[in-house]
Amino acid sequence: MAQKIFSGSSALVVAGLAVLMLTGILALDQYFSREKAYALNLRHIEQNDRMFAEHVGRSLDSVDILLDEMRIALQEGGGWQHWSAATGHQSLKTRLSRSLPQVRHLLIFDADGNQRHTSFAEAPPQINIRDRPYFVSLARGAERADYGPYVGRNSNLPTYALARRLGRDSFEGALVVALEPVYFEEFCRSSRPYGDFETALVNAEGRIVTLCRSLNTADDQLPARAGDDYRQVLAGGAFATLPLNMNRSTHESGSFVATTEPVPGHSNLRVINITPRALLTQEWRQQAWRTALLSGLALLTLLVAGLLIRRQLQQLAVVTHELRRSHETLELRVENATRELETRRNEALRLADAKARFFAAASHDLRQPLHALQLFLADLTRVTNDPEQKVLVERIESASRSIAGQLRSLLDISRLDMANITPERKHVALQTLFSQLADTYTVPAEARGVRLLFRPREVLLETDPALLTRLLGNLIDNAIKFSPKGTVLVSARWRRNAVRIEVRDNGAGIPPEHQTEIFDEFFQIENRARDPNAGLGLGLAIAHRIARLLGANISLRSAKGHGSVFALTLPVVAGKVMAPVVAQESPAIPPLLLLDAGGRWENTDDLAERARRWGYEVIVPNTISDAWRALDDSRCIPVILHTESCQLSAEYQSLLHRHPGVLITAAGCNMPEQGAYHLSEPVKPARLRALLRSLH
Ligand code: ADP
Repeated sequence: MAQKIFSGSSALVVAGLAVLMLTGILALDQYFSREKAYALNLRHIEQNDRMFAEHVGRSLDSVDILLDEMRIALQEGGGWQHWSAATGHQSLKTRLSRSLPQVRHLLIFDADGNQRHTSFAEAPPQINIRDRPYFVSLARGAERADYGPYVGRNSNLPTYALARRLGRDSFEGALVVALEPVYFEEFCRSSRPYGDFETALVNAEGRIVTLCRSLNTADDQLPARAGDDYRQVLAGGAFATLPLNMNRSTHESGSFVATTEPVPGHSNLRVINITPRALLTQEWRQQAWRTALLSGLALLTLLVAGLLIRRQLQQLAVVTHELRRSHETLELRVENATRELETRRNEALRLADAKARFFAAASHDLRQPLHALQLFLADLTRVTNDPEQKVLVERIESASRSIAGQLRSLLDISRLDMANITPERKHVALQTLFSQLADTYTVPAEARGVRLLFRPREVLLETDPALLTRLLGNLIDNAIKFSPKGTVLVSARWRRNAVRIEVRDNGAGIPPEHQTEIFDEFFQIENRARDPNAGLGLGLAIAHRIARLLGANISLRSAKGHGSVFALTLPVVAGKVMAPVVAQESPAIPPLLLLDAGGRWENTDDLAERARRWGYEVIVPNTISDAWRALDDSRCIPVILHTESCQLSAEYQSLLHRHPGVLITAAGCNMPEQGAYHLSEPVKPARLRALLRSLH
């Protein structure tokens, strides 16, 4: 976050620098535009001077025209000398009614300089202008004369005179126009571009004829009058040393600039204008101020925005910090909870493992005394002749068989739970598995009146055959158990890259509400009395665990009263739909050891012949001692024929205890459990073959 604040601040600095740079560029532009603005405004002033000078020139030209016309009229008409006062006055007044505001008076003087007629009065004052230089110049022969500024004797006001000589040959008098300087002053005042200015109409000697001057400057400068030298009085005397110049020119002095513009057609007159130089850059300065103000505002806005953003970022940093802290706290809590869970899980696993070990050890340890119990029962059967006691012993035997089966289940599930079973995978043909299962379960099925059918496929599986046999065995065992007098069909079907093995029965079926629970340990649907002969409720739990170990999946389809289908889906070896490889895949067939307990060895011949056809190597020992030796040396299955009586000698009994095998007795013998399978004559060959296979 610190980094973010830094980058926020640096962005602000960059933006600030950019604004500063822009402001600098604007300032430079302003600086260079100052000269331009000055020159432009100076040009405005010069144009204004020109306009004023031209106006003065045209005003004087029209006066000249008037004078020339009147002179001709007076000379041709003659007799003006004899005009009455009224006629003279009327004649001049009429001429002035042509609206010439620049003219104050129109006057006629005689050759002696006496005033004869005026436009302003019938009886004007008796004044004489013989001393006026323009009169002198006319008397001496000049046709026209300009003069001024001077103070008029009629009006006592400053004026400027334009005069014409009267008389063709001899000098008869003078026709004079006294100009009205106020007219020019007003014109000048109304047309000036600036309020703060001084403009004067001056003569060739620099004397002021008329002056228009701003009130601002007039107050603090020398008072100026008509006839003053403009250089001494205008701009506070700033141009006192300026040489007289009748040409168009511009001069700067101190804080003023003076421009000179000659009046066209009147070489005696010119317009002088004096302007404070500051005025010429006034607009520029205002613009510069505006720019500076705007830049300042922009900088200020940026500064305020920057401070606000910075504050926001700081607040954000605080919030983020708090969020991170609470996140860390949360993480810590989750970690603690996970650790605790892990500890509990480990504890549970340890307990489960201990339980499994306990069960395994207990069931293993119980097997020994159970075995001994079975031996004692065998002895008890032998010595008991009382029929009631015999029935009792048989029941005890059946109960102990059931306990043995249940102990086996307990041991199995404990081993599976201890997770110390690793599947030993190998290629195995499905037909081989099916025929082994048929060998094992045909007899128990028949005992319950169940038709057990197998429909195999030629498929090569890669699995642990012992575990798979145990799994399918449990399913088949259940199917037989829960379909009395029914049919159980074990079949295989193709799936994509898998084979589906089904164990289908038409028995009791399983209601939907129990279809999940039946896979739990010790769960039985209809064995609430917990009859031990009905199993412990571990068969499916074992099947489920084995399926998980093999990477297979068990599914169930069932309805109460309509049988059940348990299906197992197993991966097959890719592309292997095989020709049967029974010989390779089937476990090695152990030899059969044939013994005739009645000592009539010829009885063994038929059996030996048949066993050989089934693929067994048959050993027929001469004596029982040979039999013991052979059994100790190799893994043989003993088959004892005892068809003479129902009493088996102790020697043969202990042999069967030590090496479980098959005991074939005469019909009707009720032999106790000898650690062997018991068949009575007549023996069905298929049944014997199945029994032998199950002993492999
Ligand atoms: P058990 O040792 O009791 O057979 P299992 O775990 O194998 O224990 O089966 C649990 C329960 O599921 C059985 O008690 C039975 O009620 C029911 N069950 C299992 N297989 C079948 C079947 N094929 N038909 C009907 N019920 C069955």
